[in-house]
Amino acid sequence: MHACGHDAHTAMLASAAHLLSERAENISGNVLFMFQPGEEGYGGAKIMLDEGVLEAGEKPDSVFALHVAPELPSGVIGCRSGPILAAADTVLGRIIGQGGHGSMPHNAADPVPVACEVVQAIQTLVTRQFSVFDPVVATVGRIQAGTTNNVIPESAELDITLRSLSEDTRERLASGVCGLVEQIPVAHGLQGEVKLKRGYPPTINHAAGAEVVAKAAKALLGEEGYRLMPDPFMASEDFSYLLQRYNGAFAFLGVAPPGTEGKAAPCHSNHMLVDEDAMAVGVAMHAAIVLTCLDGSV
Ligand SMILES: [Zn+2]
Ligand SMILES: [Zn+2]
Repeated sequence: MHACGHDAHTAMLASAAHLLSERAENISGNVLFMFQPGEEGYGGAKIMLDEGVLEAGEKPDSVFALHVAPELPSGVIGCRSGPILAAADTVLGRIIGQGGHGSMPHNAADPVPVACEVVQAIQTLVTRQFSVFDPVVATVGRIQAGTTNNVIPESAELDITLRSLSEDTRERLASGVCGLVEQIPVAHGLQGEVKLKRGYPPTINHAAGAEVVAKAAKALLGEEGYRLMPDPFMASEDFSYLLQRYNGAFAFLGVAPPGTEGKAAPCHSNHMLVDEDAMAVGVAMHAAIVLTCLDGSV
């Protein structure tokens, strides 16, 4: 189960398309509704962009997206100018030593302590080489070596996710982590191999786009219906490719079921729930953003 609310996104955008088409005569402009596949890992947005889905007619003036957020109270819109989601890259590391008997490590080249050293060094890299004002996250989500207590394994594997909020830190983090995985083993007489798999770029909202979201949300829901997000989420999203090309913004729709505010299970959790009452707000927000952009009214 993916548990990211994408079925709710599709339903809300389809409903907004229905709503806006009914009053198409009163709308002074063109509205495109983009339903993309493969948001999670397959980069469906980029493929659709490259195929020209948004430029079959006129080039769009701005683009918007709404994603559910169990972190926000139901029906509340959250947005911010600048980075709102992180870039996500993956490093697959392998430390190659020489297997042997657990009682005679001097006759082997043990990758296990070297892998542990790499894990520690990655966290030192994060805290010593990156500004706290342009932060990064590196998580070793999988570390695997060996089969039993008294055998030194041949190799150790590390799967690492890297998160960053700017292209500069993204490049430096990837090359720094790859360097540690490759070079720390060499210092111990072993070998390090890396495979860098690029994910999505950071999702950076344009100031004018974030302004449209705030204006539409406040007009529709009142001041308490809009939350200026103090921080980005370090998750990642392929809407980032749209914001590299066009003005606009990515926003969140709170879906925490009543009574679970502040402790609702996040997206990707098998306990994640969408408060379906929030979907009416999502539909109205899509429409309100269109009306705010095209004629300034909501
Ligand atoms: Zn997801
Ligand atoms: Zn998602």
